[in-house]
Amino acid sequence: MPKRMTASVARRETFDQEVEALEDARRIGLETEIRTTVTRRNMHRLDQIASLAARLGTRMWSVSFLAVTGRAQAGDDLTAEEYEQVFEKLYNISRLAPFEVKTTEAMHFRRYMARRLRERAEPADPSRAVWRTADVSDGRGFVFVSHTGEIYPSGFLPISAGNVRFDSLVHVYRNSPLFVELRDSGARHGKCGFCEYRRLCGGSRARAYALTGDYLAQDPRCAYQPCAKTAGVCQEA
Ligand code: SF4
Repeated sequence: MPKRMTASVARRETFDQEVEALEDARRIGLETEIRTTVTRRNMHRLDQIASLAARLGTRMWSVSFLAVTGRAQAGDDLTAEEYEQVFEKLYNISRLAPFEVKTTEAMHFRRYMARRLRERAEPADPSRAVWRTADVSDGRGFVFVSHTGEIYPSGFLPISAGNVRFDSLVHVYRNSPLFVELRDSGARHGKCGFCEYRRLCGGSRARAYALTGDYLAQDPRCAYQPCAKTAGVCQEA
């Protein structure tokens, strides 16, 4: 069998086994979560994936966006405009789906959701995943310890503020200059520093670092223009 066909058959078998495992879990009453990393290769298949998640009775659909680190390829990442298209898709799905939709490394999905709710004069439901995690971002409500003990603000932001073999994790999280700076929403550079959504969103620090080398840079994949730039006066989100 040609090598490419062998890989394709193996992928299909793996997929079928995953689906079977999810069906088994449902049968014995376990709650399940499906994870999807959105890339340019699958962004047009989100409806299909959502339908599958509904059919499998999953409790949560966790949608991750690329921070181009590790083996991630820059060509797979969406443009800022494509992020907005995917946000709209997720927003529409989340209104009807029998499962929750949660995002990773898409802090600006909160800005998108907040604006859509405001347009519809609907209150934010604090029990929904998007609002339960609204204050969480790299180094804020989140800390990552690597397999060698390095203390990172997140798994996608590999800048070490200490090592658990020598340092107190609690002390590093609370007091290290890196973590303190990351929790200061006013310390962001560019439009993330003055955006009215900087507390709710603040942009992905991991993506900023991966694409610019500056973890405080504005999120390079956000298409939003803060109102301070366009209308002079605006209310803080
Ligand atoms: S400009 Fe920055 S803070 Fe404002 S919505 Fe975009 S990513 Fe978030």
